[in-house]
Amino acid sequence: MPRKIKGNIPKCALKYFPRECINLKVNKLSGIKEKSFSDLMKEVITPGLCPVCGTCIAVCPYNALILREESFKRSELHELEITRDIYKSIEDLCEQCGFCYYNCPEIMFSLEKAEEEEFGTVAKDELGHVQKAYMAQAADKKILKNAQCGGVATALLKYTMENELVDAAVGVTSTEHPGWKPKPTVITEPKDLHKFQKTKYTPAATVIGVTSALYERVRSKIAVVATPCQVRGIWTTNISPKGYSKIFQSIKLIIGLFCYGTYSYNDLFVKFLTKKHGITPLSVNKIDLDTEKMRVYVNNELKLEVHRHQLHKYLRKSCSDCRDFTNRLADVSLGGVGSPEKWTTVLIRTERGKKIFENAVKEGYVKAKPLSDRGLEKVKGLARLKLKEGITD
Ligand SMILES: Cc1cc2nc3c(=O)[nH]c(=O)nc-3n(C[C@H](O)[C@H](O)[C@H](O)COP(=O)(O)OP(=O)(O)OC[C@H]3O[C@@H](n4cnc5c(N)ncnc54)[C@H](O)[C@@H]3O)c2cc1C
Repeated sequence: MPRKIKGNIPKCALKYFPRECINLKVNKLSGIKEKSFSDLMKEVITPGLCPVCGTCIAVCPYNALILREESFKRSELHELEITRDIYKSIEDLCEQCGFCYYNCPEIMFSLEKAEEEEFGTVAKDELGHVQKAYMAQAADKKILKNAQCGGVATALLKYTMENELVDAAVGVTSTEHPGWKPKPTVITEPKDLHKFQKTKYTPAATVIGVTSALYERVRSKIAVVATPCQVRGIWTTNISPKGYSKIFQSIKLIIGLFCYGTYSYNDLFVKFLTKKHGITPLSVNKIDLDTEKMRVYVNNELKLEVHRHQLHKYLRKSCSDCRDFTNRLADVSLGGVGSPEKWTTVLIRTERGKKIFENAVKEGYVKAKPLSDRGLEKVKGLARLKLKEGITD
């Protein structure tokens, strides 16, 4: 018998999933109810394996899981530390449907299955399937000026929105206070896309933005910018037998970012930058992290330069186990390594990625040149290292 919904479902949950829809999901899951949130807690969250991609929160039909701002505000708490009080309030709303568990990439994701479905074969190469490699740059001067690298992520979003290939873009903005906390955000007007720009080196629950685009903003064609763990979350909704595939199906472009790991906000911004170096998050206007150094800019001037070794102890545990540097399941993958300053390295993977990128170049949104052999070797070197050893310094 499918579970009956209790009377205390918050209105916000119904906004996301109309009642018939909740019943449908519970029906679908009624055969496999042996795993639920408490198992996710035991197997993923408590051992520190959760990358905070946001997929569990995005698929929860009861809105029992929410990204709690208050746990960010208390600086002694880490991103996904769930206190007894929080756990209790989740349990009160949880209907044990298991959706969070069966959509979690740490449990249900398989690279082989996903690559076979997307490309027909599992790539042996350290970069995954790549059709072409470029160094590229946004043609729009404002986008370029405000960019982390060459502003290609933003220029591609602008192209897809202005040409009505998508009706919403999901990415990450920074919170105003205390600054630099990644906030999953939906943008529907190209003029607002600059708000996404610049890399936040702390984890972002981007997948929440997809359900928010679907149900709060009533959009159906979405472009998303995401790190490898977030892309794995999106793909899990497609390949898990109990996946909430509407998330995957609504996405018309995945712009994947290279990633060599994230740090807890509390460690990077509170302990390291504020307490150790007297740099408050609000004063920072850019952070650059390459293979050797982290550079922090205040008022557009270099304020701090430290070797990456010094940050290693702050690396999140879930990142040290990740083996994907170049985001193997994106349509196009972007990074800084391999290209000169103010340029973005671009790996074209899928046919849809190729078409969008080439048309964005043709229509004058993006400037592109073939990536040099030396540049490509640098990308391969890091991809090989992460594939072999996870993240080491
Ligand atoms: C956590 C992290 C680590 C990275 N590490 C490396 C690395 O080691 N080597 C390398 O070559 N490149 C790395 N990158 C990619 C690089 O920093 C740039 O994001 C990429 O080159 C695109 O630059 P751009 O100028 O085209 O993007 P812009 O046009 O400036 O746009 C930046 C985009 O990044 C998104 N974004 C910012 N922070 C996050 C986040 N935490 N999670 C998800 N999306 C986010 C924004 O939504 C925006 O769409 C990393 C990115 C992230 C997010």
